[in-house]
Amino acid sequence: MLNFYNSLTHRVDEFQPIQPGKVGMYTCGPTVYNYAHIGNFRCYAFEDILKRTLLASGLQVKHVMNLTDVDDKTIRGSQAEKLPLQQFTQKYKDAFFADIKTLRILPADVYPAATETIPEMIQLIQTLFDKGIAYQADDKSVYFSIAKWPKYGQLVNIDRDAMRVGVRIKMDEYAKDSMADFALWKAWDEADGEVGWDSPWGRGRPGWHIECSAMSSKYLGKTFDLHCGGIDNLFPHHEDEIAQSEAANGCKFVNTWMHCAHLVVDGQKMSKSLGNFYTLKDILGKGYTGREIRYVLIGTYYRQSLNFSFQALEEARGNLQRIDAFTARLKDLAAVETAGETPAEIAALASEAAAKFLSALQEDLNVSGGLGVLFDFIRDGNRAMDAGQVNAAGAKAMLAALASIDQILAVIEPDAGEAVPAEVVSLAEQRTAARKAKDWTLADQLRDQIAALGWEVKDTPKGPQFVKK
Ligand code: AMP
Ligand code: ZN
Repeated sequence: MLNFYNSLTHRVDEFQPIQPGKVGMYTCGPTVYNYAHIGNFRCYAFEDILKRTLLASGLQVKHVMNLTDVDDKTIRGSQAEKLPLQQFTQKYKDAFFADIKTLRILPADVYPAATETIPEMIQLIQTLFDKGIAYQADDKSVYFSIAKWPKYGQLVNIDRDAMRVGVRIKMDEYAKDSMADFALWKAWDEADGEVGWDSPWGRGRPGWHIECSAMSSKYLGKTFDLHCGGIDNLFPHHEDEIAQSEAANGCKFVNTWMHCAHLVVDGQKMSKSLGNFYTLKDILGKGYTGREIRYVLIGTYYRQSLNFSFQALEEARGNLQRIDAFTARLKDLAAVETAGETPAEIAALASEAAAKFLSALQEDLNVSGGLGVLFDFIRDGNRAMDAGQVNAAGAKAMLAALASIDQILAVIEPDAGEAVPAEVVSLAEQRTAARKAKDWTLADQLRDQIAALGWEVKDTPKGPQFVKK
């Protein structure tokens, strides 16, 4: 059974897909005007844990993630760099795909781009116009009239008496206390430069909110199961999406809304001005791996702020080393071809760990509870191995439990091992020789040379082990 906190009902509800066995899931994707920061990746990592939990629960998932490639920010950015919009956003799209791979985030099934969905957006606005809910103002832009939609305010409480009827806001982002009629179609002005599309209301471009309404329903239908994002998307973005879609389509838009809390750095909100703004590349450059960063991003319950720190990355490294040592021990045992069945208590230990882990995740994505199950399993498994109770079959059963847990966590299996370049191997051999000769200066220099090639060499009792940075 799956239970998730639903921002729409403000409580934990049992999750039931509309079509048995199949889930339609939409996640608000990056606005491709800059390199995504690790706060964004907290959000995508949370969505990845959610999706993997659905998959591990035997459900099929159709996952749609949009790429916002036209909005206030992308236009401003492309003009600052004097690049056509498409060329400007492409760089950040490419970086985004590389980054999610590094973080072991499963790709979505479809990545619609806003600029490729303009006809659907115009159609949706036309429907709102025909219903008298949208209107064209003096500035030629088209707005959604919140006074005409009494159901406005499903995610956040709206003080309808304090509503400023007829006040309009053209910007995509605004606070709840400046709630107003929001832009569906923004009339072209000089600041838009080359960017614009023809529409029944003249040349212009879509508002940010209508983009997600159109892109989600294009691929998932007018009513679908799950819609997610960071908590800052709750208002106005998601509130506005609900209003537009439900007013236009005359049916419920989304059954379950899930939002993750923010990532903060050393207790402070991450921002460029505070100098605590990190991209993934920044942290990889400090010598941490994608796997270690993922571990930190998923480790805190998603509805709680995640305090990101280098201390947390160090702890992640330590925890992963414990996992790796356990896995390596099991692999050694499993490799010895001995006859014999899995002892009953080992089989039970393995299957209970996998089942308890999945149950924790099914209870509103309790990753820390799941990690607790994993580390209990490691402790008990190590004890059983110390006591000589684990044969090859038992080790294989325990490895299978780890693999099952890793379907969701995706941190247990060390990086599949990109082939180690010959140059790195040769430098490592020279380093081993230098260490034998107690030439520590040379050994350190060689280690730095290896690091410059993007690798780390670890000295283990079995010889050098290579880790890609
Ligand atoms: P954006 O590219 O700004 O549209 O953001 C992409 C996603 O990241 C959205 O779902 C945001 O809600 C989310 N997000 C932005 N900042 C943070 C943060 N500091 N912590 C967690 N999620 C965030
Ligand atoms: Zn969105």
